Amino acid sequence: MDAKQQISQLIDVKKEQFITAADRIWGTPETRFATTESVKPFLEILEKEGFLIEKGVANMEHSFVATYGSGNPVIGILAEYDALGNLSQVADLGEQKAEKEGGNGHGCGHNLLGTGALAGAIGIKDLMEKENMTGTIKLFGCPAEESGYGKAFMARDGVFDCLDVALSWHPMDTSMAWGLSSLAVYQIYYNFKGTSAHAAAAPEQGRSALDAAELMNIGVQFLREHIIDAGRIHYAFMDAGGESANVVQPTSSLYYFIRAPKIEQAEEIYKRVNKVAEGAALMTETELEIVFDSACANYLPNQAVTTVMYENLKEFGNMNLTSEDQAYSQRYYDSLNEATKAGLITRARENNPTASEAEIKHLGTMPVSEQIAPLFFTDATSGSTDVGDVSWVCPTAQVMIGCEPQGTPPHSWQWVANGKSSVAHKGMLAAGKTIATTVYDLLINPELVAKAKAEHQATVGGKKYQSAIPADVMPK
Ligand SMILES: [Zn+2]
Repeated sequence: MDAKQQISQLIDVKKEQFITAADRIWGTPETRFATTESVKPFLEILEKEGFLIEKGVANMEHSFVATYGSGNPVIGILAEYDALGNLSQVADLGEQKAEKEGGNGHGCGHNLLGTGALAGAIGIKDLMEKENMTGTIKLFGCPAEESGYGKAFMARDGVFDCLDVALSWHPMDTSMAWGLSSLAVYQIYYNFKGTSAHAAAAPEQGRSALDAAELMNIGVQFLREHIIDAGRIHYAFMDAGGESANVVQPTSSLYYFIRAPKIEQAEEIYKRVNKVAEGAALMTETELEIVFDSACANYLPNQAVTTVMYENLKEFGNMNLTSEDQAYSQRYYDSLNEATKAGLITRARENNPTASEAEIKHLGTMPVSEQIAPLFFTDATSGSTDVGDVSWVCPTAQVMIGCEPQGTPPHSWQWVANGKSSVAHKGMLAAGKTIATTVYDLLINPELVAKAKAEHQATVGGKKYQSAIPADVMPK
């Protein structure tokens, strides 16, 4: 049996351990940096497996770095385990129903992401032990991917500086190697402080913080016409001053997300939004406080490593689904609207240009996609991820495994419901195998590591990574 087949088998031998961990994390959904329970299965298993663990890196209590082996190359694997707010959902149900009203839920599949990465790290470790191989494996426990960006703080503090290459994966509704970029993002709070007064009897004595927030939003609305097309500005009211309309509201708070294809473009828009906020404060005679929350960089796919990972995806990314698995997922397919269903047929046609219409119909209506999209690289973006910051520090590659119901988007109730299914578990194991076999390629092939690093240097233009998060901003 060749080494990669052995890795696959080594992961299968321990699969119950990974499935139990993934289900346990699903059952304790926690958001941002507060991943107290979600980190525990990792620490318990990694300690038992003989990894050296450093906890609480980069001022985050629930982060970790687990190391195995010694010498070069040093390969990193990124694990996430945070959930999303207000996405509680009953498992395996084909309709939206909260398990706990207003509760959290694993709507981005990070219970699978984290344990798939864990399976990858343990799979390659077991082979290295058996074959007495040199090289260092580091599994990074990264809180707050969804918002807060743990990896961006870790990158700022030099946690990834030791790496030659980093690998990760993400659940998705179809399998592919990730050749896309992602949007850089800044997250900022704009807090206004005014003076309360009776809104009818003494309005001239009041200075409305709510007016300031509204004027800021109007200013930004006009600004949108004068930024780059690909720029995105979103906001939420965190505080609208209170519930009494007869009081001049003394406080208000807005939470802004500013996105752009490149980090320097996001920085430029951020500075202009600050001016709009200052203008609103000036107009209303209120005080403005700008609180920097977090930021992350755009993602730079490393083509050399992504291409190798794609080959491993084709061989080890197969989930080997049964007809029962497809039948189980029919409930999620049935929840899709007609336009989404039509889009799946189009995608199947694009991904399989030589297939017959009957085959395309079959592929496009399967509740779980068993396709692997062709590999391509593009500057096109999709959302934001703090894997972006890692990709500026060292060559980085990731794959998507199609273990979520076809046509359903991330951050949906369907993903939460599917999170403990046999399909989800199979996807997680396929991800572990794809990661571990790619690490194997990197361990035995120094030319591949050298090629990846040369490409990375060319991509970043020899520039050293500079975090967009100011030095005095702490994860919170
Ligand atoms: Zn995610």
